[in-house]
Amino acid sequence: MTEIGPETRLCALLGDPVAHSGSPVMHNAAFRHAGVEARYLAFRVRADALAGAVHGLAALDAAGANVTVPHKERALALADEATARAARSGAANVLAFDPAGGVRADNTDGAGFLAALRDAGAGAAGRTVLLLGAGGAARAVGTACLEAGARNVLVANRDPERARRLAAALERERDSVLPLSAGGLRRGLAEADVVVNATPLGLKRDDPSPVATWEGARRGATAVDLVYAPHQTGFVAGARAAGLRAADGRRMLAWQAALSWERWFGRIGPVDVMAGALDRWLRTRAAGP
Ligand code: NAP
Repeated sequence: MTEIGPETRLCALLGDPVAHSGSPVMHNAAFRHAGVEARYLAFRVRADALAGAVHGLAALDAAGANVTVPHKERALALADEATARAARSGAANVLAFDPAGGVRADNTDGAGFLAALRDAGAGAAGRTVLLLGAGGAARAVGTACLEAGARNVLVANRDPERARRLAAALERERDSVLPLSAGGLRRGLAEADVVVNATPLGLKRDDPSPVATWEGARRGATAVDLVYAPHQTGFVAGARAAGLRAADGRRMLAWQAALSWERWFGRIGPVDVMAGALDRWLRTRAAGP
């Protein structure tokens, strides 16, 4: 990577917390690989400082920004323009800035999920997708799956009211909402071709899996955990033990990053370089104190 100079552009991650994020290592490795004169830094930003941070980046002519929990919804509201997929997801994970200081929002989480699902050897078209969780990531994934031709999306969430709101936003029937209980999951697993953990369960090594038993899951179904961690999550371990194809959230994270480059540099970033850097970084964290 060249020295930082007057031409170096800034890319930023805005979130709270950000210390756990793999985004800086992925983007900086990709900048080195592709010879892009930019650096990617993570900033912990309080909710009441988000507007100042976003407009500050626009004023500095930053190349772009990613937004993570808990600011994705607010970031969309702050933007002057949004892509249709960001508007449909109700949240933005990518911001780009135009020379006049305008802020443009996009959401690459859903497209990143679909690309990761394809890399896992599966797809959403004609399939039934079971979402565990009803937050921002579940909404982006559910929206993208329906746009890709999914037959149905089922939602199981700890807070049933939030599950109902997500099902309504996705224009699903009432019976698409399931309780996050043994009975609810039994029905969901019997119907689902794709099972998605969109809760943070698994981030900590001793977290329980949101799926206590995979009994009754469809043969040939695919399980995708949105969580990425240095260890194998209970969700991925349980799905594999039951004979399902399973992937964790690394590939989706790499894809949402690679697709962010379209907004910032007009081309998709080198996803395999990003994924490799993320793997190496997670291995160091696994070996760390
Ligand atoms: P969010 O908006 O805060 O939603 C979290 C969801 O998880 C809610 O539905 C919440 O249920 C549920 N939940 C939280 N703690 C739970 C628990 N202990 N037991 C059961 N359910 C629980 O978060 P998000 O943005 O959707 O993110 C969800 C996960 O996806 C996070 O781990 C995030 O890191 C990951 N993610 C990964 C990628 C990637 O590229 N790999 C991208 C985006 C997000 P309630 O409604 O009942 O509170």
